[in-house]
Amino acid sequence: MSKRIHLSSPHMSGNELKYVQEAFEKNYVAPVGENITQLENALQQYLKMPHVVALNSGTSALHLALINVGVDRGDEVIVSDFTFSASVNPVLYQRAVPVFVDCEPSTWNMDPELLEEAIKDRLQQGKKPRAIILAHLYGMPARIDQIRSVARRYEIPLIEDAAEALGSRYQGQLVGTFADMSILSFNGNKIITTSGGGALVSKRKDYADHALYLSMQAKDDTPHYQHSEVGYNYRMSNVLAGIGRAQMEVLHKRIEQRRHRFHYYKQALGDIEEISFLEEPAGCQSNYWLTTILVHPNGRGISKEVLRRNLDAQQIDSRPLWKPMHLQPVFEAYPRYLNATGTDLFQKGLCLPSGSNLTDEDADKVVQEIKKTFRIASCC
Ligand SMILES: *Cc1c(COP(=O)(O)O)cnc(C)c1O
Repeated sequence: MSKRIHLSSPHMSGNELKYVQEAFEKNYVAPVGENITQLENALQQYLKMPHVVALNSGTSALHLALINVGVDRGDEVIVSDFTFSASVNPVLYQRAVPVFVDCEPSTWNMDPELLEEAIKDRLQQGKKPRAIILAHLYGMPARIDQIRSVARRYEIPLIEDAAEALGSRYQGQLVGTFADMSILSFNGNKIITTSGGGALVSKRKDYADHALYLSMQAKDDTPHYQHSEVGYNYRMSNVLAGIGRAQMEVLHKRIEQRRHRFHYYKQALGDIEEISFLEEPAGCQSNYWLTTILVHPNGRGISKEVLRRNLDAQQIDSRPLWKPMHLQPVFEAYPRYLNATGTDLFQKGLCLPSGSNLTDEDADKVVQEIKKTFRIASCC
């Protein structure tokens, strides 16, 4: 039996254990220590952002970002409809109301015009959105300048969910650096990992300080345990930060490897009429965290689901694109502004194995199986 080809598995650089060992030697097996400081410094320097707080997940980073902008019970928060549920759940942790805005076909991210329509409509109903959460999916930067100018025009704080897009650029500038606050994820499947972790990135010291305070149980500056706010246990472990520190050293390689994979698939599968790729619009540079394809109906009965099942039978993971939030049973009750784009992407789209540790051999196997499905001679 050949081994399974995964979608995106952790890829160690070799230096991780050295930093983890250091944490053990100094007995900083705690949410404090040199690895955390070094990881935060590396991220600050890479992003050229003054404040980074390392946390135990991207989800908790988003939760703290929402608390920072004052999202509270009953407030409305606009969120990308086409995203992963973790972009939305923290809104519910605050007992606030998510308002979903659909995506546009060129980046698969939030449609700036629909965003403005949604804001106008909410305002007419007397409900000013308290924040906007914008996801950059699969590494592709959203139309961030347009989104940001809408957010500014209506004076609504913008939060970038850059969990999938570390290293992606919009007009040369790294995503996660456009909004007042952004979040990153270092979950095991992301472009770099701490096995589980995340970060809040901010231009504002007050936001970063408050997030740090909340992430460590909101202890006031007193000799005894005194608390004036509800705290959370969201700080990153110094052991895991050691993994992240080593991963930051190879981030540039990981981006190259993921981008290489996209171009490899595109070249190999580009002539299959029924398949299209998400190309970079002018000004967008994706880290291509995952290579994604759309399978267009062709009268031969090959849908994305047929392809997915064929690949699965050959021990190859592929996965449908995110199922839009407005279609999720858990978010049924919330307002939505739709243009059918996300639903169409969900029906047609598939993520291909894209890990930076995927070998060309394995990628070739994926290519051959896809070609077989479309009954195209696999040779020459
Ligand atoms: C992974 C991910 C998150 C959550 O990050 P965790 O570190 O897993 O909590 C949030 N948003 C998006 C778009 C993601 O892909």
